[in-house]
Amino acid sequence: MTGAYRLTEAHEMVRTMARQMAREKLAPRAAEIDKNGEFPWDIIEFYRENHILEMPIPAEYGGQGADTLSRTLVIEEFAAACANSAHALADHWMGLHPIEIGGSEELKRRLLPELRKKLVAFSVTEPEAGSDVANLKTRAIARGDHYILNGIKCFCTDGAVADYIVIFAKTDPEAGSRGISAFVVDTRATGFSIGKIEDQMGLRGTRACELVLEDCAVPRENLLGREGDGFKIAMQTFDRSRPTDAILALGIAQGALSYAKEYAKQRVQFGRAIAEFQAIQFMLADMATGIEAARHLVYKAASLIDDGTPDPMMSAMANCFATDTAVKVTTDAIQVMGGYGYMRDHPVERMFRDARLFQIVEGTNQVLRIVIARSLLKK
Ligand SMILES: Cc1cc2nc3c(=O)[nH]c(=O)nc-3n(C[C@H](O)[C@H](O)[C@H](O)COP(=O)(O)OP(=O)(O)OC[C@H]3O[C@@H](n4cnc5c(N)ncnc54)[C@H](O)[C@@H]3O)c2cc1C
Repeated sequence: MTGAYRLTEAHEMVRTMARQMAREKLAPRAAEIDKNGEFPWDIIEFYRENHILEMPIPAEYGGQGADTLSRTLVIEEFAAACANSAHALADHWMGLHPIEIGGSEELKRRLLPELRKKLVAFSVTEPEAGSDVANLKTRAIARGDHYILNGIKCFCTDGAVADYIVIFAKTDPEAGSRGISAFVVDTRATGFSIGKIEDQMGLRGTRACELVLEDCAVPRENLLGREGDGFKIAMQTFDRSRPTDAILALGIAQGALSYAKEYAKQRVQFGRAIAEFQAIQFMLADMATGIEAARHLVYKAASLIDDGTPDPMMSAMANCFATDTAVKVTTDAIQVMGGYGYMRDHPVERMFRDARLFQIVEGTNQVLRIVIARSLLKK
């Protein structure tokens, strides 16, 4: 493992552009998306026009072929301005990973150019299979040219708006995790419908939903890898997507720190700006230090992916540390602002609600610690 990273001039340019887009396009929409709980279609259109949806798609399939570190910088800037907009993008990018990992050449040639404009989501979770992925019950049975899928998936981010969803189902229910297969499901297929749309605490513009599969026919060529490869594909996807999730949480934290810092300079109590009190300064100092430390961990995990050596332990560490940091920082941002931090007139309460999700998704922080400890003890 090396993972020594360096931001090139090209990376700096990507960051500058992303920051400008975030400031001009995303930030003005953040409060409204949260308030209305509506999917940000205008932002998706903006991503389409500016070739952002297609950033991870290799150039040979018509995409930008941007490296992980560039995409990390984009999500960081976008999340600091509007977590919902960043989350919608990160979820699409996550859905691309399993296709890249397990898709046949024919499937990639057919789908990836389309996914420069259309949305793809990722669905492994079920009511009885959250952390325990191998316990999923959705069944896929081969029949003629198709697999027939039956079951209920839950908590699928963007499931209600995506054009395609990578869905994990059992082709061999007796084989545990080795009996799981992954399929790209066209959401226009008969037998596919949306169930309950969740009423979430945060990230309210990208609400998760149930997927109902009733004799849903999926063409055989939409199987990713071979039958039984699904669990491996899901884990390899997490190794690649966890740094993105981590930076999303950290971007939110950076947004909260910036806001709280400016507030502290303006707010006067006892005749002085509260930023002059050491208690406030120490909170701000710890917030900035936590973010900086987590940022380096995430950039390192991202660079390992770019080096062609994604490291499950490093991705888990980055995600676990960055998301814990994000929750601490957003909590402290509220504290710096006192009662005003708790009010919806200011964005930090939203940032806290948004950041909180990332200790749960893509492996809870308990499960991530298990991944880290197992890797550690194996060495
Ligand atoms: C808003 C939202 C969006 C989501 N989007 C998606 C999506 O797009 N696609 C998708 O597939 N899933 C998605 N998820 C699902 C998410 O990944 C799961 O919620 C998560 O994996 C945890 O599963 P669970 O909720 O069933 O909790 P459980 O697995 O029931 O866990 C409950 C508690 O038990 C702990 N626990 C469980 N097992 C262990 C263990 N072995 N050791 C120690 N502690 C343990 C957990 O850490 C947690 O604290 C989303 C969830 C939310 C809330």
